Amino acid sequence: MIFMTNKNLLRPAVLGSVGLLLATSTLAACGSTETASPQPISIVSSFYPLQFVAEQIGGDNVSVANLTPPGAEPHDLELTPQQTAAIGDAQLVIYLGGFQSAVDEAVKQEASKTSLDAGQGLTTLAPTQSEIDEAREEGESAPVADPHIWLDPNLMISVAQRVTKKLTALNPGEAKTFAANLTTLTAQLKKVDSDWKAGTKSCESRDLVVSHEAFGYLVKRYQFKQVGIGGLSPDTEPSAAKVAEVSDFVNENDVKTIYYETLVDPKVAETVATETGANTAVLDPIEGLVQGSSQDYLSIMRTNLSNVKKGQGCK
Ligand SMILES: [Zn+2]
Repeated sequence: MIFMTNKNLLRPAVLGSVGLLLATSTLAACGSTETASPQPISIVSSFYPLQFVAEQIGGDNVSVANLTPPGAEPHDLELTPQQTAAIGDAQLVIYLGGFQSAVDEAVKQEASKTSLDAGQGLTTLAPTQSEIDEAREEGESAPVADPHIWLDPNLMISVAQRVTKKLTALNPGEAKTFAANLTTLTAQLKKVDSDWKAGTKSCESRDLVVSHEAFGYLVKRYQFKQVGIGGLSPDTEPSAAKVAEVSDFVNENDVKTIYYETLVDPKVAETVATETGANTAVLDPIEGLVQGSSQDYLSIMRTNLSNVKKGQGCK
């Protein structure tokens, strides 16, 4: 009977990874009277790339619970009451302001003094005038700044620096460990950047046709042009007119590859590919990992590079 009760309490579908964090903290608290080992810093991250940075910098000195479960798409995340409580309980909440409105709201209510907005201080890409006009014409709400900063590895370095600063303030005794981890991660991200730069220097096509406009920072850094079938968020179904417009673009500019994503239905990309005779390939916006994935940010960026080199005819 006791076993059954425990199992029910920890059922992951209900509590998700935040539930596991709470369980871990409780166990650590029970043991702390007998052993002097310090508890890891409890962190809640709002989606995968921020979890990745927190774990790389914090190592064994942090315990990270991610609000967006594997396989889920983070843009429209809704929070359970347990997750909102976990945001209030965490020593540090790492999120990206303007990306997930439910998280923005919960941070404001529960964690205004214990949170880090990963995008704060970074120069974000503002919506273009044509995007503003288009939204107005279609009666949609005003477009926001592009949130997808993590797809530029150089901006990830800035995020990692700020996470390091926060963790050092929370546990000054591990300052050297955090600094060393930052050095390692910075070198890894710089390698991704230099590989992308070298690998995409000379390509037959610089038009990246993608299913949603997640790649603004990536195309800016590596000098491609992004043509999105969908907008900044993947949930908005593109109109037939938009699909036709992109198909015309693909035909006129001899685009060979349409990119789709791991967490979103590839139907829209496939429609354009079928209409134009182009191929499809994955370009992962790393908004989350697929369930059971053994990949991480760095390995996905490498796979993305090899797919783009192939799809764009880079030498
Ligand atoms: Zn996105």
